[in-house]
Formats: sequence, structure tokens, C-alpha cells
Amino acid sequence: MPEAPDLFVIRNYLEPKLIGRKVTAVDERKPLVLRNMTGEKFSDDLPGRTFTGIGRKGKLLLLELGEERRLVISPMLTGGLRYGSPDDRMEASAILVFDLDDGHQLRYFDQKRMGQVYYLHPDQLGEIVRLENQGPDVLDEPMKLEEFRAALKPFRGEIKGILTRGQAVSGIGNAYADEILWGAQLFPFRKKSKLSPEEFERLHEAVYSVPKGAVTVLEKRVGDSIHKKVRDFLSVHGKGGKACPRCGSRISAIKANRRETNFCRKCQPGTMFD
Ligand SMILES: [Zn+2]
Repeated sequence: MPEAPDLFVIRNYLEPKLIGRKVTAVDERKPLVLRNMTGEKFSDDLPGRTFTGIGRKGKLLLLELGEERRLVISPMLTGGLRYGSPDDRMEASAILVFDLDDGHQLRYFDQKRMGQVYYLHPDQLGEIVRLENQGPDVLDEPMKLEEFRAALKPFRGEIKGILTRGQAVSGIGNAYADEILWGAQLFPFRKKSKLSPEEFERLHEAVYSVPKGAVTVLEKRVGDSIHKKVRDFLSVHGKGGKACPRCGSRISAIKANRRETNFCRKCQPGTMFD
């Protein structure tokens, strides 16, 4: 669920709240999500450590705990974070609960347990493949058109798949890929090799402008509710059957590659065989 724009806002929200805070206790409520690579017992090793930094790379958050430890959170489709009081109702999907020395609590929840949380020494970061094989972040300084062309060059197939894979540009998931392709007026299943130079330029422009525009909206809308996904402002993603904001046609919903793709057949013409 969280993609670069969501995590960008979550990171900025959490930074002043977590930095300098010591973890006093941790509760691992469900197995299989935490990958503890330290060789130490998680519930003994983490308490007493202090958050010293928080970063983001694509669709992952990196929490620094001094020189010796890192927590890397990869929420995938259904994971998320909640910051608040220990008195807040505990989510059935809560996986990890961190008690902080100022009385607050940070929780990682995940309905489908598809995400992963790594606990490790900084020297081990290279072992997290999904961290290391990410391309430049979509919210970083945009690549020039020619750099973008070169970054996409090694990848073949449908444009949507290339965008969400994260190796050319990182941070784009299912939702923002749909939004980018609607913005660029490109059929999501179009093969990259079939794009005209003009279409490629439109793709390049939308890849950077759409997520940045979303950050502006999310910064106003998310507030303290970092655990809630704000997606109602999107143009096509999750809007199957509704009217396209550009042309008024009905937005299509296609299940392909185990995920739903939303697009407008009129604004984004094409067929699977193009
Ligand atoms: Zn349309």
C-alpha cells in the first residue's frame, strides 16, 4: 500500500517524534514478518537503543538505532505504521509494537503479512536484495530525459511492470503506476519498445510530476493518521466504474499479473496485443 509519496509523508511525520526516543520494550505479536539477522534475541537486544535517524529508499523505510542496529521496513501491499498512545485500540493486524520512553507507541501492522521488517547490523544492509536493487528514487531530483531512457533500457515488457519493479526508478507501486500512466495518457500494458519518442517524453514527465503532486496533497491530508491510506484524490486508481476526470468515460478495471489496473480506455487507448 504505501508507495514513495505515502512513505515520504510518513517519514517526515515520524522524524521529529522518533529521533532521540529510546525503545523501552518491544512486543513481537505475530511471527514470520520480522527477519532478525543479528543473532541476538529481538526482545532483549532492541530495548535500550535510541532512534538516531530515519530514512526512506523507494518503498522502504530505514530506521537507525545508533551505530549498531537498523530496522528496515518493507510494508509491501498491506503493511503500515501507527504512532500514538498505548491506550489506542490494538489492531488485530499488529505485528510489532515498540514502547518509547516518552510514553508513546509505534506499531507496525500488516493485514496479510506480506511485508517484511529486517533487524540487522548496518554491515548487513547489502543482504537485503529489495533494498539494494532499487533505482534512483522517484521523488529525488528528476533524471534528464536521456538519463531516464538509459535507466529504462535494460528492462523489457509492459510499461506498468517496468515502473513497479523499482530497478529503473524506485518508489512507484500499483497505485501510482496507474496514476502516472493516466497522466501520460499511455495504455498500461503497452510494451516499452513500442513507445514513440513523444510518448516516452510524456512518460518521463508524468513519472516525476504525478508522485510530487501527490506529496503536496498528502502533506495536507494525512496529519496524525499515518496509519490510514489517503487515496480518494487519485484520478483512476481504485476508481473502476467511475467517470474519468479528463474525458468522463467509465474507468476500466482489469485484473492482470495478480493486481488490478485502472485506466481510461479513451484517454489511454491500446490493446493487449500492441
Ligand atoms: Zn478519459
